[in-house]
Amino acid sequence: VEDALRQSQKMEAVGQLTGGIAHDFNNMLATVIGPLDLLATRIGADDARAKRYIDMAIDGARRAAQLTQRLLAFSRQQPLQPVPVDANRLVAGMSDLLVHSLGGSVRLETVLAAGLWWTYADANQLENVILNLAVNARDAMEGGGRLTVETANCHLDHHYAADHLGVPAGQYILIAVSDSGSGMPPEVIAKAFDPFFTTKKVGQGTGLGLSQVYGFVKQSAGHVKIYSEVGQGTTVKVYLPRLMVDAGERAQSLAGSALPLG
Ligand code: ADP
Repeated sequence: VEDALRQSQKMEAVGQLTGGIAHDFNNMLATVIGPLDLLATRIGADDARAKRYIDMAIDGARRAAQLTQRLLAFSRQQPLQPVPVDANRLVAGMSDLLVHSLGGSVRLETVLAAGLWWTYADANQLENVILNLAVNARDAMEGGGRLTVETANCHLDHHYAADHLGVPAGQYILIAVSDSGSGMPPEVIAKAFDPFFTTKKVGQGTGLGLSQVYGFVKQSAGHVKIYSEVGQGTTVKVYLPRLMVDAGERAQSLAGSALPLG
């Protein structure tokens, strides 16, 4: 619980700092990209080399702009818009996107529990979380491998929920994302959720993926835990609270009314 507090304070402080910097930096980038775009339109078709240099500069500036967008999204801590979610349907609906993001050498497997409970979460953000985890998994499987997305109903008893996860005991749904990749040593696991912690090369990792995952899950009254073995692979388990609603009320809830959590 202390760890969770430390983590959220850290994220808040870093969020405020980066938000301000990202905002100003983004404006400065606009003053770089705009003139470059103009210049690109004026370069004659015969000057292929100059065109190439300008394209490289524009490309670099665009990547910097993408990073500042991610930083802004991270620091804004946008309010979530929770709705009743059938995670099985959400995962199934993502399979094209996942296959595309994973590239040819990684096989996608989904194991969806029959009769999965519903949860109450921001569906777009939950998709983002799964995508973040899948991209990390892909990066850990350079030579190819298998990505498994699994769902399950999960009773967390008092002992396990409170002592191991720092969440209230109760009923949760589990979304587990597993890879057969390089795995993480304990010192990487310990820091993995920290904003800006990355082991990737400059320009390849922002170190914001897992801290976003962490922020989302905590805001959704859930929990996330990493199980990893170097050389074996990694499983990230996301627990989200079960939506307490019976089938009759479900239709109503889908019509847009907010429902209490159990
Ligand atoms: P980024 O992916 O930009 O580095 P993240 O916060 O998503 O930032 O991840 C932080 C670090 O955790 C990664 O740099 C990597 O070392 C480690 N990591 C995350 N997911 C995995 C995974 N599935 N397998 C191995 N290492 C991972």
